[in-house]
Amino acid sequence: MHSLFFKAFGIICSMSYHVCPRDCFDTCGMLYENGKLKGDKSHPFTSGLVCGKASLSLRQVNDVNRVVKPMVRTAHGFEKITLDLALNIAAEQMNRSKGKVYRIDYSGHMGILSRFFHQRLFRQLGAPEVTWDICSTAGDNELLDGFGSIYGSDIDEIRESDFLIIWGANIAYSSIHAFTWARQVKNVFVIDPVQTDTAAAFNHVPVRPGGDVALVLQLLMEMKKRGYEVPLDMSKFTNLEDISGVSQEVVNLLCDGLLKSANPFVFLGYGFQRQWNGGLCVRLIVSLLDVIGKRDHFYFDRPYYGIDVDYVRLGSQKPNNRSISWTKLSEELRGEHGAVFFVLNANPLNTIPDRRTLIKAFKSEDNFVIVHDLFMTETAQAADLVFPAKHYLEFEDVIPSYGHKYLGFNEIAFSAPENSMSNMELSRALSEKLGLKNKELYENDIQLIDGALRPLNVSYDYLKEKKRIALPEPPKVGHPNWPSDSRVLSNLNREKEGSFLLLTPVARLRLHSQYDNEINAVPILEINVDDAAQLRICDGELARIENERGSLDIACKVTSRVPRGVLRLEHGFWTDIDAPNVNDLIDSTLQKGNMGSQLMWNFVDIRPVGKGA
Ligand code: SF4
Repeated sequence: MHSLFFKAFGIICSMSYHVCPRDCFDTCGMLYENGKLKGDKSHPFTSGLVCGKASLSLRQVNDVNRVVKPMVRTAHGFEKITLDLALNIAAEQMNRSKGKVYRIDYSGHMGILSRFFHQRLFRQLGAPEVTWDICSTAGDNELLDGFGSIYGSDIDEIRESDFLIIWGANIAYSSIHAFTWARQVKNVFVIDPVQTDTAAAFNHVPVRPGGDVALVLQLLMEMKKRGYEVPLDMSKFTNLEDISGVSQEVVNLLCDGLLKSANPFVFLGYGFQRQWNGGLCVRLIVSLLDVIGKRDHFYFDRPYYGIDVDYVRLGSQKPNNRSISWTKLSEELRGEHGAVFFVLNANPLNTIPDRRTLIKAFKSEDNFVIVHDLFMTETAQAADLVFPAKHYLEFEDVIPSYGHKYLGFNEIAFSAPENSMSNMELSRALSEKLGLKNKELYENDIQLIDGALRPLNVSYDYLKEKKRIALPEPPKVGHPNWPSDSRVLSNLNREKEGSFLLLTPVARLRLHSQYDNEINAVPILEINVDDAAQLRICDGELARIENERGSLDIACKVTSRVPRGVLRLEHGFWTDIDAPNVNDLIDSTLQKGNMGSQLMWNFVDIRPVGKGA
């Protein structure tokens, strides 16, 4: 079946250059050649290595279930319509909504054009800005407040390191290059409540969930004992070992490594950062590095420094006054009437906390939902109008990385299905249908790329020829502004708010919900062996997890890799829109003081269901 689609969509040339635009640290350089998408061996960071998601990208292009015609919802289900009619319907609904248009987008494609250009149109229509606060906002805001910058070093500094701490990240899944380099480092410790594949490969420090702040304070206390200056009143912080679950012996080992190695490095992940005290913990870890004179020896995030993103995003506009939180989207849109929800670059009805509330808002007869996507995702299933999207192998874009310094040029490998559009093409076509006169809404992709690269004295033609350039180094973290003793104390310990903590990390072959339709993996809930015995749950059996927001029946894997009191379920698996999904159970509360999400701090009950229950 797939080969039919190759014929239909046509290969543009025998070899083309690509950059993986997925929301991933590594942003791999790739070549399409002889029917294969493979790593670019000359890329200084990714060196020819790509993960399994690269070949899944090719499957996406050729997938028989791809949306290739615009569709409108009728009383009898979706009906295929012409592109012109679809654009007319969209424009009519956007006009009818009298300014109640919501741009609902995130990071499905990380290209500078795909992610930012359409914002010009939605801003002109009065749509609120979207605060992309579900990923690294907690840590970013704390680092900005504490150090004036979020940037320490790039991930590839691991190659120079002789002592590495991987804190709250499963890089075996989320950064395969970091994982490969970590294997060359003499001493590696992984701080994580769960024995992930990364933790299993190195020295595992099983911190208690939410105990990371206590662990940093244990390290700071030990540093103080060894004569380093720590500007916190450490006598205020007690029971640290009980809270973190990490012994003094291990604390000594970590301190020895940090102090005795020539080049210690810390990879700060997003896992613990998404707990109730995670943002402050990121700030304290970097403060700890400052105490030992290694302030920039960490990776957390790299800003898109040197590129004029605002040129693409804003043109000459100013941001709108109102913004909505992505994490709290369900709450923000609850009870909305007469609105147009325009979704692109995202699948919120899979990935948003408290998604049941958002489903209700989307299904309300009063609101009109427009979705631009490759597939009939959960969100597309709730749409009134669906536009087919181009795949990243079918249009040009420039892709920066938040893990390394290389900005790459993505070429076209295939001609796209006739009616499909990139985000930029859709935005321009809608502007025209809406009769908007602002010339900035019609800039073409080459002009946009030239504008974004102008501060670098680089043009579209130059980048297209060279395929990638190294961006300048962003300003690094400066002198620390320590949080107060009382703020640290209020972030130290918190009672469990339910029987089991539910952790919902990323999967190896999914990027949030992307690619799940290509792998059809069965979602599995991991439960500790002693908890399972106590609850009479056997390996492979179904259990029900539930809280006040929802419930989900799911097959269990009994394992000693998760600690007692913790359940682990990788998020992003696809369901029918009305079927339960793990994000039905996830709360949208934001962390205090930094407005980042705390998705990894949710509690559920669990019980066996089915046979013998
Ligand atoms: S998902 Fe990440 S590791 Fe995999 S190909 Fe894309 S950028 Fe590379």
